[in-house]
Amino acid sequence: MMKKERLPALFIGHGSPMNAVLDNPFTRAMATLGRDLPRPKAILCVSAHWLTEGELRLNGSMPFETIYDFYGFPDELYSITYAPPPAKTEAERTAALLNPAPALEGRGLDHGAWAILRMIYPRADIPVYQLSVDYPAEGKYHYKLGRRLAPLRDEGVLIVGSGNIAHNLSLMDMKIDARPHAWAVNFDLKVKEYIDKGRRAELADYAGLPGGQLSVPTPDHYWPFLVALGAGLEDKASYPYEGYHHASLSMRAVRFG
Ligand code: ZN
Repeated sequence: MMKKERLPALFIGHGSPMNAVLDNPFTRAMATLGRDLPRPKAILCVSAHWLTEGELRLNGSMPFETIYDFYGFPDELYSITYAPPPAKTEAERTAALLNPAPALEGRGLDHGAWAILRMIYPRADIPVYQLSVDYPAEGKYHYKLGRRLAPLRDEGVLIVGSGNIAHNLSLMDMKIDARPHAWAVNFDLKVKEYIDKGRRAELADYAGLPGGQLSVPTPDHYWPFLVALGAGLEDKASYPYEGYHHASLSMRAVRFG
């Protein structure tokens, strides 16, 4: 029997929804990443834009609508549709891995999922599903959840966390290429250092790291990173993209394995 290939686990910093209609070094890096990755059987996305409280939920039970969960952006963003097939079988398999098993529902894809998947897999021909983020849970929980999901990588599932390692909207600069705040750079580089030096479990406690308080004023965009980190286990990390948008967003992408 052929040995099955273990898929990488990814974390993607998604930044502003505008990236969906821009052509910049970040969007080009995502296109390159899509060409470099082995073709998955299905994609599991854990997005900062699906937050639940005290429970997890899965989608994939019905064909996807594209959810426009952002306000005040140009019309062209609201005309994008991204409708890959729902990965119902994998969603059910994932529910069975978790205790309690999350409910499976017909929710569409939020922009944390579609905006990046459309750059990486523009043909929308690979089945997709999402697992929500249990927002009030602590950092360690999300890291452990990633570890629980890791076996899916041996079953052809590409696990993709979508958020931002540093994400402070109130200290954003309107200009995408504004000079980044030192605290955002310090935090982002410290996270990279901990990944590379095998201090990954310590990243569950972001608040104690330099720049942590300003970079993660609320943890919604950081939790998907911890899920990907846990799913990446001890795999070597590489960085398909490193950089900053709007001064306060780290756009770092991490590929485990
Ligand atoms: Zn976001």
